Amino acid sequence: MSRIAYVNGLYVPHGEAGVHIEDRGFQFADGVYEVCEVRDGHLIDETRHISRLIRSLGELRMAMPMSRAALGLVLREVVRRNRVRDGLVYLQVTRGVAQRNFLFPANTTPTLVVTARATSRAELEQRAEAGISVITVPDNRWDRVDIKTVGLLPNCLAKEAAKAAGAREAWFVDRDGYVTEGGSSNAWIVSAEGRLITRPAEFGILRGITRTVTLEVAARLNLQVEERGFTREEAYAAVEAFVTSATLGVMPVVRIDGRAVGDGKPGRAARELRATFHSVAEVAP
Ligand code: PMP
Repeated sequence: MSRIAYVNGLYVPHGEAGVHIEDRGFQFADGVYEVCEVRDGHLIDETRHISRLIRSLGELRMAMPMSRAALGLVLREVVRRNRVRDGLVYLQVTRGVAQRNFLFPANTTPTLVVTARATSRAELEQRAEAGISVITVPDNRWDRVDIKTVGLLPNCLAKEAAKAAGAREAWFVDRDGYVTEGGSSNAWIVSAEGRLITRPAEFGILRGITRTVTLEVAARLNLQVEERGFTREEAYAAVEAFVTSATLGVMPVVRIDGRAVGDGKPGRAARELRATFHSVAEVAP
């Protein structure tokens, strides 16, 4: 079956889909994106993802390319045309096409691209049963990582470093030694007292949708949460660790910088949060 992408009003074969060379997304990474999980054919937490998209756009003084309702229809149509039951839908909005100039162009039409792809739920569950390894790297990103921009080169480099070290994810560590977040996920640990610890999302990290929902899941499970920073050393000493993202869900971390976390197996809190997640997350119609 051929893949279909949505590009500025048209559904086109994925292999032929493209945007203009002077698109500001290409020239300046002047664009934002969202990734939403698709499960049993339904979008998960669509409302929150689109609200965050609107916030990201607002921070960059960009307009929504279409109404929320229309965007919802496009997302569903891309999922449908690609016959995705379990997978991911990706959307990107850029400021549009303009002669290359740093200043924001007047009156450009935003570019909107939507793609979807299937993923294997079984493979993901297998990975969650084994847990993943992470390494730590210096956080060398700009300080507006709360905006979900497509400027992800530091994240690519960090994740490449993780891969070279045999790990799946990299945790950024700030100058004071505190873990900020993963290259494409939020970072959590569990203290010896069984408290979940994750950094506040006011600044310095992306406010992950999975993070927000996981906080609700934790409340449902009567797990205590401390929203505060934690250091790399605290992470080494944690009894459990995990990451959250729309792509991975709640994913146990079993090694940090080559050291076993707890007993080196996925922890109980992470497994419970993962098992309960989808009964709390919003399932869109
Ligand atoms: N932080 C970063 C840097 C990310 O790229 C992502 C995933 N897009 C997340 C956190 C997790 O966000 P979400 O739970 O909304 O996928």
